[in-house]
Amino acid sequence: MNEVNRQIWRDGTFVPWADATVHILSQSLQRGSLIFDYMSVHDTSRGPAVFRLSEHIDRFIASGKIVGLPLNYSKAELLQACVATVQQNPGSTSLKISALLAGIEIDIVPQDPTVAVFVAAYDSRTDIARGKPGKFHFAPELKLKVEREKTNRKPEIITPHAKVAANYTSPMMAKWQARREGYDDIILLNENDCVAEAPTANLFIAPTANNLVTPPGELVLLGITRATIVEMAPAMGLSCVERDIPVAELLDAPEVFLTGTSVGVWPVVQIENRNVGNGRVGDVTRRLAQRYQKIVSGEDPEFDHWMFYIDEN
Ligand code: PMP
Repeated sequence: MNEVNRQIWRDGTFVPWADATVHILSQSLQRGSLIFDYMSVHDTSRGPAVFRLSEHIDRFIASGKIVGLPLNYSKAELLQACVATVQQNPGSTSLKISALLAGIEIDIVPQDPTVAVFVAAYDSRTDIARGKPGKFHFAPELKLKVEREKTNRKPEIITPHAKVAANYTSPMMAKWQARREGYDDIILLNENDCVAEAPTANLFIAPTANNLVTPPGELVLLGITRATIVEMAPAMGLSCVERDIPVAELLDAPEVFLTGTSVGVWPVVQIENRNVGNGRVGDVTRRLAQRYQKIVSGEDPEFDHWMFYIDEN
């Protein structure tokens, strides 16, 4: 086993990585009720910075409200827990906050509604993938499958706005099957056969060189990177609209990309064995990816307000 030398924040105290555990019979593990949010930490000239920390914590609190988990912390306390955890774990690139019902329950309704909060800061490459070459799938340019069997995004079950463990099981099943078929990722459709999102990323198309389209917010997770692209677009001379994207339009789009905290802007070069555009990363996608990288590196004054500098808070 890897010796991971990290400290995880658990309800106000730090515990070693290996001790940040919950019981096998805990309510959240058995019922999928854990909520979480995932943020990126960047090494900048002003020290470590978390990209849009405040918005991530707002979404985390919103997930708790949707699922009905009573969080016993204010937003200021959660922000402080994140700051302390990043400071405690130098060299981190990922920050994950989770809340769960850690008690052992009989019924699905917890008799003990105490919610435990954990905050972890780490680097996936050195802390998790180290010593396991080839075990983790990563493609810098994506080949996607359109998932037609499972329409995953329905507001009348759990809204996709909640980052709750249970929302990831159906996409996991579909994506696992797609991996066996040689794809990197999948596109989930909504009930009207229009594009929704990927299991852990939002989707955009660029129908022309100066125009972006992304599916409406109702049936997708309100991605922070998605919001970032929508807000950056005008500064780059791009118009951006939210509207339904039928599958046929997706398949004909000259540029397609995914967005998410872990990679930023992620080019799609193939969908179901058809090239997207000429099968290479398109200009709009490349320009957005470069600008995004500049912003998260703390080198873009226009959008520096999105950077939460840990040592200055
Ligand atoms: N959709 C889903 C379902 C996700 O889990 C994620 C990852 N958080 C995203 C989209 C992308 O969101 P963000 O840009 O906030 O990482």
